[in-house]
Amino acid sequence: MRLVLVGPPGAGKGTQAEFIAAHFAVPKISTGDIFRANVAAGTPLGVEARRFMDSGQLVPDEVTINMVRDRLAEPDAADGFLLDGFPRTVPQAIAHDKLLADLGVGLDVVLELIVDDDEVIRRLSGRWTCRGCGKIWHIEFDPPTHDGVCDRCGSQLYQRDDDKAETVAERLKVYVRDTAPLIIFYGAQGKLVGIDATGPVEDVTVRAIDALRSYGG
Ligand SMILES: [Zn+2]
Repeated sequence: MRLVLVGPPGAGKGTQAEFIAAHFAVPKISTGDIFRANVAAGTPLGVEARRFMDSGQLVPDEVTINMVRDRLAEPDAADGFLLDGFPRTVPQAIAHDKLLADLGVGLDVVLELIVDDDEVIRRLSGRWTCRGCGKIWHIEFDPPTHDGVCDRCGSQLYQRDDDKAETVAERLKVYVRDTAPLIIFYGAQGKLVGIDATGPVEDVTVRAIDALRSYGG
């Protein structure tokens, strides 16, 4: 199965990607992992990406797409893959379709994890991270016993910039602007399947697997 996972920040994409990829026995490929692997191995693309990241700029699509191309050409992705975090925009999706066509394959399905805006804000802006051990607590879903203190190691908790309410609102805006058109794009291709991604993690996984079953293994 060749699958792309889309959904707003805080939809639980990373977690669901792990479970879904394991269930269908395909590699989970995330752009974060590809970036890190290329940078660590010092590949020409990694060196180029590094240059942009070090200067605080976005890595250009061309570099990202070439990294994805290299990754999808690896043997473990020959019979399928789950992409998490790419494509993120319609131009990337068009480039991705083209690179798959070059490889002689096509995308089977795009799974959208549906979570409404209020829920995204509730999930993300409630996260507090431990300065000591890095554990992430949630004021509503997984609160520490004492406010602002990690149960596990006793260190102070802080809110990462990414999790602050104003940043969350901005990330959502970017998602709606850049990624929501992607949903229309794949819908028009007849490849989009959406599931309710609220409720317990295990329930969402069951819904995802059910929705994808007809696309084979
Ligand atoms: Zn801690």
